[in-house]
Amino acid sequence: MTIFSKIIAGDIPCYKIAEDDRYFAFLDINPVAKGHVLVVPKQETDYLFDLDDTLLSGMTLFAKRIAKAQKKAIACRRIGVAVLGMEVPHAHIHLIPLNQETDLNFFKPKQSFSPDEMQAIAAAIRAELE
Ligand code: 5GP
Repeated sequence: MTIFSKIIAGDIPCYKIAEDDRYFAFLDINPVAKGHVLVVPKQETDYLFDLDDTLLSGMTLFAKRIAKAQKKAIACRRIGVAVLGMEVPHAHIHLIPLNQETDLNFFKPKQSFSPDEMQAIAAAIRAELE
C-alpha cells in the first residue's frame, strides 16, 4: 500500500481538499508554494501515463475543478501543473499556485506552514469548490 493509499484510507492524516469515487486531493505536506495540492487516483498505479484513458482524462477534469478553486482562494496568477513521481510510486499531479515562473521550483527550500495555517489554506480552497 502506498503512502497516498494510506492517506486516502484515512490511516495517515492529511489536509483534504476533495474526493469522489475515483480521485482524492489534499495539500502537499512539503509545499513548493502556499496552496500546493496533490491530485491522486484512488487506484494504485505508479506512473501517471500508465493510467487508462478514462481514468487519466477524468483525473484532468477533477484537477481542473481543484485548480479553479485554488485560483480563487490563493493570491496567484496561475495554477501550475507538474508531474514528477520520483518520490512516491502512486500517480499524482502537483497543482501549484504561481506568481512567476521561478515559483515552480522543486529544488528551493520548501515552504513551511503551521497546522493551523494548513487547515486554513485547505478550508479556503474547499470553500471555493463548485
Ligand atoms: P514526487 O513523487 O512527485 O517526486 O513527490 C511526492 C510529493 O508528495 C512531494 O511533494 C512530497 O512533499 C509529497 N508527500 C510525500 N509524502 C507525503 C505525505 O505523507 N503527505 C502529504 N500530504 N504529502 C506527501
